[in-house]
Amino acid sequence: MSTIFTKIIRGEIPCHKIAESETHIAFLDINPIAEGHILVVPKQETDYIFDLPDNLLGDTMVFAKKVAAAIDKSLKPIRTGIIVEGLEVPHAHIHLVPIYREGQDVSLRNKANVSDERMKEIAKIVSKEVKQ
Ligand code: AMP
Repeated sequence: MSTIFTKIIRGEIPCHKIAESETHIAFLDINPIAEGHILVVPKQETDYIFDLPDNLLGDTMVFAKKVAAAIDKSLKPIRTGIIVEGLEVPHAHIHLVPIYREGQDVSLRNKANVSDERMKEIAKIVSKEVKQ
């Protein structure tokens, strides 16, 4: 059975898309721990990130770097952090989490309560800054 991220990649379920290439997609996390929390996902369906082939693992980090640059430019956090957990969705992904202040709770169990309206707005302003 396809993962929820493969369904997003195929357009079968909606997402707030930030960027897409032939091999990767980035979209807003549906349960953000901070405004602008984004998932970077290789389209190849592999559960454990360290099972990705070396080139795809490297490309995933490079794709994440581009998205992080767009977050930094548009949302102006102190910096953008990365988290890899992968315990919920069995499809490798990187969490990009803008850090707005020292001591910010970056646990994935945190909840930021971002309205759908604001999610739309964030997707618009961040995606505009992604350099192809
Ligand atoms: P983990 O697998 O533990 O790294 O966490 C999976 C992440 O995927 C969680 O932060 C979820 O909020 C997020 N997530 C699950 N379903 C969706 C979805 N349909 N759209 C966006 N993010 C999702």
